[in-house]
Amino acid sequence: MSGFKIRGACPGALRPMASADGLVVRIRPPLGRLSPAQARGLAQVAASFGSGEVELTNRANLQIRSVAEAAHPDLIAALSPLGLIDPDPEAERARNLIVTPFHRAGDGTQELARALTDVLRAAPPLPAKFGLALDCGEAPVLGGASADIRVERGAEGRLLIRPDGCDGGQEVLAEEVPAAVLSLLRWFATQGIGADGRGRMRDAAARLPAPRRPAFPARAAHLPPAGPIAGGLLAAARFGRLPAATLAALADYATELRLTPWRAVYLPGIDTLPDMPGLITDPADPLLRVAACTGAPGCPQAHAETRTLAQALAPHLPPGRHLHVSGCAKGCAHPGPADITLTATPEGFALAHRARAADPPARSGLNAAMLIASPSLLFRTDDAPFL
Ligand code: SF4
Repeated sequence: MSGFKIRGACPGALRPMASADGLVVRIRPPLGRLSPAQARGLAQVAASFGSGEVELTNRANLQIRSVAEAAHPDLIAALSPLGLIDPDPEAERARNLIVTPFHRAGDGTQELARALTDVLRAAPPLPAKFGLALDCGEAPVLGGASADIRVERGAEGRLLIRPDGCDGGQEVLAEEVPAAVLSLLRWFATQGIGADGRGRMRDAAARLPAPRRPAFPARAAHLPPAGPIAGGLLAAARFGRLPAATLAALADYATELRLTPWRAVYLPGIDTLPDMPGLITDPADPLLRVAACTGAPGCPQAHAETRTLAQALAPHLPPGRHLHVSGCAKGCAHPGPADITLTATPEGFALAHRARAADPPARSGLNAAMLIASPSLLFRTDDAPFL
């Protein structure tokens, strides 16, 4: 499998990352939510300065792509009044906090999110991808999201601070959470892990003292990928990209848009929406089981276009099976194994089953036209179930 370049730094709004199609501007909406006014404003910015789409990331952030370098100052000037960016690039970079989208009024989540945002600002320098998950809704739902410290519900009204890599954590009262998290961040910063900007809490977890490792099992929740849930609607973006016009239209229906790490927005109080371009609300839509990265021409490392192929193959996918189409071996859209993985290489697409993008293929030298004409090429000849 061909190599790829690893980039450690996370792009932000004030420090965008260069890509083949221009700058990538990442926005971390404070408290994991957009008001209707912010959603409309952001849609306008994406349409005026970017590709006309807004990407939803797997860390519950948003990205605008294809921004011309010369237009970046004007984009920041347009974003600033929306209250979506910090004036200080370091404060903005540190604001890595995923908030459960299923919090309820009065459950304390928003107050804790504000306090943890302040904690991240006050913390010592941390690796670029280091972040927190505030997962203290009725049931934890962020177990699959990337986070170094998780705050979840514990026993008897307490909250559990669980370092990534540990089965359990430290139980504290809600008002004790900010100080306890700050103490854990300071401890991590003394461990000498992440000096190159890449270390994570799980690399240090084994060094944690015993009281932080009680036997609390990590809990997982099974969520529908889209559709009605928890008194609202989970609306997924096809391949994680929302057309700007769709984002603006959502603002006409919702009182707020909560970001999720599932490339979907959660709209509390909504149970149905009209069809909108790029939006998936039917949990049976096969596109929900298809991942495809930016691919060519947007990504300089891509060996082929990915999304047209993924869209064409989706209807042929057997129920319950997942397809990953990757522009190179890095596998950005789906780092784990998928039932069927197509990875673009300089010699065409490589096909692998129950594999990651970089795993050895079962077949190689396939091209998009071939696969669209004969989707059965995707499946194993012995017809053995993948799952
Ligand atoms: S996986 Fe896709 S988006 Fe990621 S580096 Fe490769 S081509 Fe680019």
